[in-house]
This record gives sequence, C-alpha cells and structure tokens, in this order.
Amino acid sequence: MITDVFCKILKGELKADVVYKDNDFWVVKDINPQAPIHLLIIPVKHFTSLEDFMEGDNNGLLGKGLVVAHKVAHQAGIAEKGYRLIINEGEHGGKMVPHLHIHLLGGKRLGPKLVK
Ligand code: 5GP
Repeated sequence: MITDVFCKILKGELKADVVYKDNDFWVVKDINPQAPIHLLIIPVKHFTSLEDFMEGDNNGLLGKGLVVAHKVAHQAGIAEKGYRLIINEGEHGGKMVPHLHIHLLGGKRLGPKLVK
C-alpha cells in the first residue's frame, strides 16, 4: 500500500484534477488512467477500506456514491455507451491507496470482464 494520497488531495495538500465535489464525495481524474475516462469517486470522510466503512453507521453513503458515479458518467458523456465501476479491496483485490474509493472507467470498450 502507498500513503493515503486521497486525504492529502481532500485537504488541499496535493494537487488533483477535481471534476466534481459535494459535502460527501469528491471525484478526481486518476493520475494513471486505464481508460480514456478514469475517475475516482472518493468519500470525504476517511474510511481505510470497505471493512472499515461497515463498522460505522454510514447507511446510505455508498448509495450516494453510486448516484455521484451516475452523475459524473453523464457529465463525462459516457453514460450512453456504458462504463464500469470497480472497488479494489485488500491485498487480493489489489488495493493500493488506503482510502475507500470507487473507480469509474469508460470511454472505450473495456477489457475482459473478470465476471462472465
Ligand atoms: P486502488 O488500486 O487503490 O484501487 O487504486 C488507486 C488509484 O489511485 C490508482 O488507479 C492510481 O493510479 C491512483 N492514484 C495514485 N496516486 C494518485 C494521486 O496522487 N493522484 C490521483 N489523482 N490518483 C492517484
């Protein structure tokens, strides 16, 4: 794992290309995009992981994250053709940044699906 660069972005300590923000979520462009559109939907409140998130009373927050994903997919013009949302969790999931986030990828036909 690398340090929590997303908390640094949220605190203004690290520059990022922010495409959306509200009280609960910021959406930034991934620094190493894996598709023409690669956005990261990041909760403002810090959760290291989905495991961490489940421990608190955060009912509805992840649902709101999906609403934000839908909104920015439309904003980016990829909603009609489609996109993929991914949460990498833990070592086997390949998570690198210890701050819960949802990847939104689109803008081209995406690579092979892990789930058939
Ligand atoms: P994970 O593997 O944790 O699910 O994804 C972390 C993502 O954060 C990666 O896609 C990586 O490219 C992105 N990332 C890492 N450091 C930075 C950064 O400083 N700024 C931005 N915008 N994205 C970052």
